[in-house]
Amino acid sequence: MRRPLIIANWKLHKGLEETKAYADRLKGALTDEPEYPNVDLAICPPFPLIHPLSEMLRESPVAVGAQNVSIRVEGAFTGEVGINQLKDTGAQIVILGHSERRNVFNETDDLIAEKLALVLTETNLTPVLCVGESLQVREKGEQAAFTTRQLESALHNVSDELAGRIVIAYEPIWAIGTGVNATPGDAQAMCKAIRQVFAARFGENAGSELRILYGGSIKPANWRDIFAGEDVDGGLVGGASLDATDFFALYQIALGS
Ligand code: PEP
Repeated sequence: MRRPLIIANWKLHKGLEETKAYADRLKGALTDEPEYPNVDLAICPPFPLIHPLSEMLRESPVAVGAQNVSIRVEGAFTGEVGINQLKDTGAQIVILGHSERRNVFNETDDLIAEKLALVLTETNLTPVLCVGESLQVREKGEQAAFTTRQLESALHNVSDELAGRIVIAYEPIWAIGTGVNATPGDAQAMCKAIRQVFAARFGENAGSELRILYGGSIKPANWRDIFAGEDVDGGLVGGASLDATDFFALYQIALGS
């Protein structure tokens, strides 16, 4: 049985005061929830907020994570944040290969594969690997082939023993931050295709245990139908996660499904 997981990706938003207000609101909303809920929640704020947020959420079931990590571990790499700093902040997960990292900061498939291997072998963090096609690819009907290639490339260096720690987020680029979400049918079809690729690489068991998230303009209004997909195990949420009330609403929808 796969535990649903909903991750907030705050991107480059919020300061310390807003973070505190958000954490208070979320903790307040979670007070009436079961002590051991069967839906996992996580928030990935900008780097400087990871540690304060993980302190603020210490008594809550909400995990905190990073939106990226450097491939460099230590040394003269101005502006980078490495795995050792992440471990010290209280981060439990790390997003890798988000389309904004790939497209705005030119992260390649090879770099993302290296980062995934580094996180798996050198940390206990849960890597959330993002894959997904552009509008051009979708218009040609090549989304499954493209996403499969991206996935196989990222998994290139992963051993069978470590594969079980990976979470995958299917995020079609045309749906990220656009207000246009994938249809529930499209999200399900792509998550299923991803599961098949993972199963072919690591075995049926690993495939059936893999958690696959959908990401792209999730909102409380569209979430129930998307999350109903058999292979959709949760969401990676940008815009709607900036509001604690909306984020909590997504969680409640997942709890109720
Ligand atoms: C994201 O940033 O991963 C994302 C899916 O953003 P949004 O929900 O705003 O589309």
